[in-house]
Amino acid sequence: MPASETAPPVLRFAPSPNGYLHLGHAYSALSNEAAARRLGGRLYLRMEDTDPTRARAAFATAILEDLAWLCIAFEEKVLFQSERLAAYAAALGELERLGLVYPAFLSRSEIAAKVAASEAGGKPWPRDPDGAPLYPGPERDWPQSRRRREMTGGRPYALRLDMRRATAGAPPLSWRETDPFSGTCQTIAADPGLWGDVVLARKEVRTSYHLAVTVDDAFQGVTHIVRGMDLKPATAVHRLLQHLLALPEPSYHHHRLILDEEGRKLAKSAGATALRDLRAAGRKPGEIRAALGFALS
Ligand code: GLU
Repeated sequence: MPASETAPPVLRFAPSPNGYLHLGHAYSALSNEAAARRLGGRLYLRMEDTDPTRARAAFATAILEDLAWLCIAFEEKVLFQSERLAAYAAALGELERLGLVYPAFLSRSEIAAKVAASEAGGKPWPRDPDGAPLYPGPERDWPQSRRRREMTGGRPYALRLDMRRATAGAPPLSWRETDPFSGTCQTIAADPGLWGDVVLARKEVRTSYHLAVTVDDAFQGVTHIVRGMDLKPATAVHRLLQHLLALPEPSYHHHRLILDEEGRKLAKSAGATALRDLRAAGRKPGEIRAALGFALS
């Protein structure tokens, strides 16, 4: 039974401080605020700052400023994922004890070479819902002795979930997709196998988006996850990790994405205007709210 049916409502907005917030982020934050109001729940802010190559403290500071400018009130304590590495290590240890984790040594270019070789032979390589090739997993069946030897050999490695083993022992999984505004709900079958052997711990930092988000949603008692449609397919992986780690099941609402004039998802890399630029250009928070359909009552 989803925790949303038994526990007091808790929501979160969880940006990654890898850049400045744009209107797409504002829509997500305002959707969370409106859902929290509707449900009478608490709303937390969580900084998903575990990627050392992209996360910057200056972006986290800017995000706090932008959200304050939009007048979105969060619970006082902001959770920084970079301070939660011990919790992720504990969850990883649990999955290791279950025999579901293996060290993965291939670099991005080695994976690309394997995919290209296979596709040159006319065999399409399977891809995950985001379009990335599934990890070939040559290490999956190494005996423990070889794993240990290679892991102490000095080559960097990620830790990946052995998806076949993980799903073999799991019951059929699903999630409740519940729209807190219209009240409609739907049960969606989760097929985590589509993602292949997902990364649980990256080479540079011993966690990943999937692991950290699952551990922290449970840690913060999040009952209702409100986030963009682009993350809907990843929910299958999160449901599997919740099952494996015996964590409560939240309900989910994947909201529409704000698109640019060409119909593409807004992204800083594609030149989406940052909220702070709109602010500098004299736009008011009320205008932003109204433009996104969240006028202050
Ligand atoms: N940190 C993720 C992002 O900015 C969102 C995580 C989530 O809402 O599950 O895309």
